[in-house]
Amino acid sequence: MAELLKGKPVADAIVDALKNDTTVLESKDIKPCLALVRVGEKSDDVAYERAIVKRCDAVGITTTKVELPEEITQEDFLTQLGKVNEDQLIHGILIFRPLPKQLDEKVIETNIAPEKDVDCLHPENTAKLLTGDESGFVPCTPMAVMEILKHYQIPLEGKNAVVLGRSMVVGKPAALLLLQENATVTVAHSRTRDLEKITSGADVLVAAIGRSEFVREAHIKEGAVVADVGINVDENGNMTGDVHQEEAKRKAGSFTPVPGGVGSVTTAVLAKQVIKACKMQTKE
Ligand code: NAP
Repeated sequence: MAELLKGKPVADAIVDALKNDTTVLESKDIKPCLALVRVGEKSDDVAYERAIVKRCDAVGITTTKVELPEEITQEDFLTQLGKVNEDQLIHGILIFRPLPKQLDEKVIETNIAPEKDVDCLHPENTAKLLTGDESGFVPCTPMAVMEILKHYQIPLEGKNAVVLGRSMVVGKPAALLLLQENATVTVAHSRTRDLEKITSGADVLVAAIGRSEFVREAHIKEGAVVADVGINVDENGNMTGDVHQEEAKRKAGSFTPVPGGVGSVTTAVLAKQVIKACKMQTKE
């Protein structure tokens, strides 16, 4: 039976460490603050926002909600973003995405202040991720995967890692982070041929494709470490990952559950990045 790599102990350890940071900052009258920029009332965004606020409260980070109407124009959005960028009391900014169609995400990405860009939208932070410059920010979800692997002391150096999915939010940054840890990385996607052959050679398999229970026993190498990033809803309305849990249990050495795996670490990683932003901006 495979070991479960639960997210909660990882998130708890991150939060405990951050509480020390906020105590020190507070003693210097510095209160880390995250702005949550939400357009409209999408239930996924509202639920994620609630989870972020709860996590930030627990750490000692203030949150401020910037709630904008669904039909907001690009110009008005950029004006609001400009205000948040300039507010000295705000250290981090998270924009819920995807944004409505009238808003051009590419333009918005370049308008977020890079030093407050805690979820790595700005090209400057993407470039830092590419070059391994740790003064930048990394997207929270792939960072959560890395925190889990680190917490459970999964060796990565020289290992074959396969990342399934190549989005800018998860797949590509996950591949870069694994490469930084000296894994030998393959990125697979919807045009990849002989997918099973590739994934079944992976010592570490990261699944981030958004296809419910797509990864089956045949995709998994005996004893592999499997990180499941997927958040899907099956035909019965249940939350599922990209990995078939029962089959992973039989074949993998260890795997992250859904729910209770990668997703539960993401908000802790976000809080960590807010503290990092706050320390950099206040030179603490
Ligand atoms: P995305 O932008 O839709 O990208 C999906 C990627 O998977 C693409 O690169 C796509 O390939 C690839 N893909 C799709 N079907 C495939 C198939 N049958 N075989 C091989 N590759 C396939 O999704 P995303 O934003 O990266 O998110 C991925 C999953 O992670 C989703 O379930 C999402 O809900 C979840 N997620 C979770 C968290 C969390 O906190 N846990 C955060 C963000 C996202 P092409 O590039 O060739 O199209």
